[in-house]
Amino acid sequence: MRNMIASIYGYKERRKRYGQHFQKQFEELKMTEYLPNSDLEKIQHSRIKSFLQFVRDNSRYYRNIFQEYNFNPNIMEYTDDIKILPILEKEVVRKNAKEISCEKLFKNTIKVKTSGSTGKPLNLVITEENLQQDEAYQSLLYYWYRIDRKNKMAKCAGQTVASIDQKKPPFWVTDYINSNMYFSSYHLTEVNLKYYIEKLKRFNPDVIEGYASSIYLLALANQMYKGHINPKFIRTGSDTLLDYQRKVIEDSFQCKVYNLYGSGENCVMAIECPKGKLHIQMLYGYTELLNDDGESAKPGETARIIATGFNNPAFPLIRYNIGDLAVYSENQNCSCGRGGIILDTIIGRIEDYIDTPDGRKIGRMDHIFKGVEGVINGQIVQYKVEEIIIKIAKDNTYNDLSEKQVIKNARKRLGSELNIKLRYVNEIPKENNGKYKFVLSKLNKEMFGNKYDI
Ligand SMILES: [Zn+2]
Repeated sequence: MRNMIASIYGYKERRKRYGQHFQKQFEELKMTEYLPNSDLEKIQHSRIKSFLQFVRDNSRYYRNIFQEYNFNPNIMEYTDDIKILPILEKEVVRKNAKEISCEKLFKNTIKVKTSGSTGKPLNLVITEENLQQDEAYQSLLYYWYRIDRKNKMAKCAGQTVASIDQKKPPFWVTDYINSNMYFSSYHLTEVNLKYYIEKLKRFNPDVIEGYASSIYLLALANQMYKGHINPKFIRTGSDTLLDYQRKVIEDSFQCKVYNLYGSGENCVMAIECPKGKLHIQMLYGYTELLNDDGESAKPGETARIIATGFNNPAFPLIRYNIGDLAVYSENQNCSCGRGGIILDTIIGRIEDYIDTPDGRKIGRMDHIFKGVEGVINGQIVQYKVEEIIIKIAKDNTYNDLSEKQVIKNARKRLGSELNIKLRYVNEIPKENNGKYKFVLSKLNKEMFGNKYDI
């Protein structure tokens, strides 16, 4: 029954994501794969210019901002000219969402709830066209490596496929329409992982994709239980793939891992090439890298990612601070021959795992504030295995319902055995690297007797 539901869901998703806009975008990506940056910049400029004209005419928020900063997209000569506009912080977007949105002009928009790397939730909409464009970019990674997405795929990326308090397998469902098998990211205990590995071995996937934190645990278990699972391709996304995780995953599965960086707001994307560099996609959005002084970063510098997406007119984000950091590569001519801005790495979502009393290790807890009214910023802290503390910085729209929703979301992922305490704070402290750590664990990290930490 559950497999049937997953297959129907898979069928519907497929229809939604792989329509005419997908085809058009995918063809363009194939045509532009090896264009030099000078050509990409020209296309980018003309797209961003007409996008900004549309925004001025249809978004009340930006009309005012453009006026205030005396910015006229009609006479914009260089794309850099938008640097006259202020950087848009997530709090500002939340407060002005109605004035920013152009949703009413579009049919079939899709609601997106994102938390990004900072624990700051944001609700927005994207057009159907933009959803399909984004899907084409997801497919681009596979195209670069000539991997057919119709191959058998094992996915472990936060889908709820089994009841959270479930103690026995199956912790997976099969979508027969798309040859996908979805594995739960919420039941990864040393004991359960044995069943995961047995199932994976039988399924024999061509591709494994999902959260780096989940695939890392699968990789440890593959070694421990001698699964000899040997996919052709592994893709991570959503949370940051750390060097030590990459090494364990590649050794365990005898297969390279590739990373795709995007964000729920659909305004920046970077894809890892065979040379191990991340290529920021210039026709996906206009990306600025700014150093600590707010200046354009120099090669080798670590920089904030400021993103302007020009493919989602339903909810324009212009000079938006995504909250992630990137290391701008010293060498901007990648030997793979593809264009784009070249990054060595992205310092995005780095989270600890939450440990539950029954031994589950749960990474990527971003769902906890999704759709919750009034949360400015949040953090989950764990000092003991039987308890978590959820710190919340709230605004005046936060209410009883918000509190119930946070606890409900937490229970949905963590089960009923953990104590959950809420603590309201004025602000969440940043780590030494200037970023928020969304999940902070003070417990010892151990898996199969191996200590690990992030
Ligand atoms: Zn490259």
